[in-house]
Amino acid sequence: MPTTFSELGLSAEVLESINALGYEEPSPIQALAIPPMMAGRDVVAQAQTGTGKTAAFAIPIIERINTRRAGVQAIVVLPTRELAVQVAEAVHALGHGRGITVLPIYGGQPYDRQLRALKAGVHVVVGTPGRIMDHVRRETLRLDTTSMVVLDEADEMLDMGFLEDIEFILDKVPAERQIGLFSATIPARIEALARRYLREPERIMIAQETRTAPQTQQFWYETPYRSKLDVLARILDFEQPPSAIIFCRTKREVDTLAEALQSRGYSTAAIHGDISQAQRELQLRAFRDNRAEILVATDVAARGLDIPDVSHVINYDIPDDADAYVHRIGRTGRMGAKGEAITLVTPRETRLLHSIEQQTRKKMKQLKLPTQADIAARRREAFVSALRETIESGAGEPFGRLLEGLAQEHEPLAIARAALYLAATGGGSGRGDGSFVGGEGEPAEPEPDSAVEAGMVRLFIDAGRKQGVRPQDLVEAFATQAGVAPSTVGTIDLYDSFAFVDMRTAGAKKVIEQGVVRLHGGEAHVKKAVPRTGAGAGPRRKK
Ligand code: AMP
Repeated sequence: MPTTFSELGLSAEVLESINALGYEEPSPIQALAIPPMMAGRDVVAQAQTGTGKTAAFAIPIIERINTRRAGVQAIVVLPTRELAVQVAEAVHALGHGRGITVLPIYGGQPYDRQLRALKAGVHVVVGTPGRIMDHVRRETLRLDTTSMVVLDEADEMLDMGFLEDIEFILDKVPAERQIGLFSATIPARIEALARRYLREPERIMIAQETRTAPQTQQFWYETPYRSKLDVLARILDFEQPPSAIIFCRTKREVDTLAEALQSRGYSTAAIHGDISQAQRELQLRAFRDNRAEILVATDVAARGLDIPDVSHVINYDIPDDADAYVHRIGRTGRMGAKGEAITLVTPRETRLLHSIEQQTRKKMKQLKLPTQADIAARRREAFVSALRETIESGAGEPFGRLLEGLAQEHEPLAIARAALYLAATGGGSGRGDGSFVGGEGEPAEPEPDSAVEAGMVRLFIDAGRKQGVRPQDLVEAFATQAGVAPSTVGTIDLYDSFAFVDMRTAGAKKVIEQGVVRLHGGEAHVKKAVPRTGAGAGPRRKK
């Protein structure tokens, strides 16, 4: 089976488009379907949405079109308008380098626009059966130059009652043609259709005998495509994973997601095929040394790497197949340790999820998205158990003397309440932003929790993630509004409603004098942060 796109004998233009899309290697359906389709053979392929099936038929179509010839050379027949638009976009993205033109046509869209485009001439038409049939009947679409037909999501088209329309279309295509039939399931009716219209098709099915690691709990969340980032952020806030690998499908998604997470305050490392070996090593080291809590990766980049066991594997994009799934989640729950695997699934991908479940013979549990109250409760739980551990371990002993003094003036319970309040608002929770107090008002500002480097001053800014502030916004605001060179800015710790910034003394002075910076249309106050003087419960500045 070919493992790289270049082994598939593709043109330089298409290889370039594939690279621009960020695909690193062919998915299983692509590796299996592209060679026979490039050779002109008929194909029956069992594949769900999410497996890369669109490119599996789009690439051979694009490569086999003769751009010097006029007339529609390929048609893709599929069940819905959304799919028509998506597939046409994919054909364009992969084929524009070769000069391939494509037109989606579907019911509900005005005819005149479609007519104009059809008249001008396109190589590929992607459409729903009814609308294609209408155009053929009106002779506004001629199929006598068509040599390739793909039936995409064929089982769904039959379920929707399109069989006759499909037969009508196939009967109008010249006898010398190639047909690709793609379907998530192959029931008897699909078999009958294939027997009637296809010639000695190559049959493609990706079946695995795979089982998953028993120690790993497996969950999934349904999420619309658009909300994936917000859903992920909510999950991370809830789970507070000590270390997590997040898998994306493409290099580009890795870059985008890593940047988005970084700007939301998660220390994030990223690896994919386009990142140099040296840079990858640095990123990995940051992850291994716990300087980065999250590693975002493609399958290819993560393969064969010595990555330590992690507490969470998150599939930001569902993998192509059960093999890839098992491989990914094998990064957690090793050697008896507990692990969690979480998969984000868009509505269109639920069939792929179920087929992965079937092949791994393990059901994943669907979870509801945690609410802010759930997140606060989870943090409270974590805090209480940390408190219990501290009591049992006797780690609080050094504060005994301090407590004796205070006990002269106050009730022990009152002291405990105040101490809890300070700990809660001052970094006692996992992420140190005190938000486990949730619902009880905005927490007080925590103090900066690590020592400032020599020659640097720590600043406190009263705006944070909730105000849409990202680290780069702070650097830019200091540079443009206070004339501070970006290179003098050190560590930035961004929290929900405030931030700490380390800065060289001279620059910090300027910013403190100015006192205010404009951020996202609002004003934020800047002052020198008050350093913490002792561990945890040490005396605090007056508010
Ligand atoms: P599909 O099953 O065709 O709906 O494709 C699902 C998703 O996978 C789409 O977002 C594609 O852009 C993406 N995709 C397709 N082929 C690859 C590949 N070889 N590597 C990474 N992503 C891919």
